[in-house]
Amino acid sequence: MILGSHLSMAKGYTKAVEEAISIGANTFQFFTRNPRGGKAKALNLKDIEKATKLMKEHHFGQLLAHAPYTMNLCSEKEDVASFSKYMMKDDLERLKNLPCDLYNFHPGSHVGLGVEKGIEKITNALNEIITGEEAVLILLETMSGKGTEIGKTFEEIKTIIDGVKHSESMGVCLDTCHVYSAGYDIVDDLDGVIEEFDKIIGLDYLKAIHLNDSKTPFKSFKDRHEKLGLGTIGEKALIEIINHPKLRNIPFFLETPNELEGYKHEIDILRRNENG
Ligand code: FE
Ligand code: FE
Ligand code: ZN
Repeated sequence: MILGSHLSMAKGYTKAVEEAISIGANTFQFFTRNPRGGKAKALNLKDIEKATKLMKEHHFGQLLAHAPYTMNLCSEKEDVASFSKYMMKDDLERLKNLPCDLYNFHPGSHVGLGVEKGIEKITNALNEIITGEEAVLILLETMSGKGTEIGKTFEEIKTIIDGVKHSESMGVCLDTCHVYSAGYDIVDDLDGVIEEFDKIIGLDYLKAIHLNDSKTPFKSFKDRHEKLGLGTIGEKALIEIINHPKLRNIPFFLETPNELEGYKHEIDILRRNENG
């Protein structure tokens, strides 16, 4: 199983790979820059080279880069929308130098424009940005639907993918906390949810899973991650997810409220409960 957690890049890539190894992970997720947005740090190519070597030695799976939260390609404020486009372009350029194959972003919040107009703005922006020459697949994250978030249904995600010219560069990252909050019952009907994902989007597009428990009830349209087993989804359902024949080969990333020790503990539990 390819499994890891979100890790800080504050001390560089080699340090992050070492931390991942120390908690039993063979991948990790990281922010491309300060999650609140802004200018990215210059890349240290020596550090990246060292990290890449270490990842190979330890048979790492695909890493997942996460775009800043402030990115909103469908903002009605022109300066926010254009800075978001700049950040994504810059991220995609920088990722050409990193041992990373997947780039995840939040589709955006329409803040009153309406879902349809919001989706149109997102696809227009993606068509300006994506050339098909990227080094990564660009993943839309499934969202909980808090506020005016787009991406709370599989249909919305599918509409965005269909609007992108280079749809072969696109994929989806399913967040278990978000989909459960958005009303997909992965606790009592995991097979049904997977079938629906397949019917509407296509399982081929599913490239990463954010494995989180949730602090809030089913269909609450909130976004509050919880430690594995302590939330409304529960350990049993999360273990079924990592073992599901249609999901088990997809990389899993913990975004639970933890420090390194807590992540290590959760990775231990999951690895112990992985079916041969
Ligand atoms: Fe996210
Ligand atoms: Fe997530
Ligand atoms: Zn979340």
